[in-house]
Amino acid sequence: MQERILTGDRITGKLHLGHYVGSLKNRVELQNSYECFVLLADVQALTTHFNHPAIVRDNLRNVAMDYLAAGIDPNRSTLFIQSMIPEIAELTVYFSMFVTVNSLRHNPTIKSEAAERGYTQLNYGFLGYPVSQAADIAICRATLIPVGEDQVPHIEQTRKIIRRFHDLYRPVFPEPQALIGAIPRLSGLDGGRKMGKSSGNAISLDSSPQQVNELIQKATTDPERIHKSDPGHPDICPIYSYHKAFNAPQAEDIYRNCSQGTIGCSECKARIAGQINKLLEPMNERRETISKYPKQIDEILISGTERARVLARETMQEVREAMGIAYFGPNTFQ
Ligand code: ATP
Ligand code: MG
Repeated sequence: MQERILTGDRITGKLHLGHYVGSLKNRVELQNSYECFVLLADVQALTTHFNHPAIVRDNLRNVAMDYLAAGIDPNRSTLFIQSMIPEIAELTVYFSMFVTVNSLRHNPTIKSEAAERGYTQLNYGFLGYPVSQAADIAICRATLIPVGEDQVPHIEQTRKIIRRFHDLYRPVFPEPQALIGAIPRLSGLDGGRKMGKSSGNAISLDSSPQQVNELIQKATTDPERIHKSDPGHPDICPIYSYHKAFNAPQAEDIYRNCSQGTIGCSECKARIAGQINKLLEPMNERRETISKYPKQIDEILISGTERARVLARETMQEVREAMGIAYFGPNTFQ
């Protein structure tokens, strides 16, 4: 079977280094071999940002630009906007009939994100996020889902939903597999937590060299290390985790020198900032070119969404037939 990839991001902010190593790098590589659909998840952005829709609207083109700058090729990958595919919302409703509230409450990512955001009550849409994600994947009949580690419980939930649909009605969808990036969970600049758009601890992919230097200089390091000669604990230092992610050939050296107190934090930081800037430089160059043609970005989004909609309609017709609710045949109102 030809693999089909579905992947995407909530458009809650500009993409960051965590996206790059967690999933974006994989997408850029895989688009050459597989059919690739990339979702700009505005509906899922609203699960936490419904009271700030302007943030969602303003980030649509930012994220699209991040994709193109990182090397997503619109001739190979279909970029599409979630809210403009009503079939996704429709399938979410059908799936929601047989997903139990308990299975959603126990989803570890839902639990940890709710705790991190301080939610004492869970909104229906927030709790239902994994169901809508299952619908994104199923509507595209995708087989391979490049994601960071935090999304693994959602993919597992998707597989369960699809199996249940097949037991209840008949097989329509392939069972998707998660494809985890080389760095499944990049730490934020504050250590501990994952780097996240909404967490204020990220280095966005459009950062200038000066911004990268400043953010890295301010980043948390091993709190027990005061003097350069104090032995460091690289395993708990986000800067060391960045060396592993973006400076692999020298990471072992850094580990030894930090543990022995023979490299200071500011040199260690300067070295990683240099490597990150090397990674971002070609992206920034591409972004500068692309940003001169805003109309082209809109055209890419419109034509991608149109293409995805054709597929979504086909899938929904099959879904209705499988469920026995395709009353008048496929093209009754067209
Ligand atoms: P938000 O804070 O608004 O939830 P986010 O930074 O978590 O934003 P998402 O849009 O939720 O970004 O996630 C998009 C994809 O990027 C998912 O596949 C997710 O697993 C991956 N991802 C996000 N942050 C990281 C990270 N720090 N390390 C690895 N992968 C990540
Ligand atoms: Mg997230």
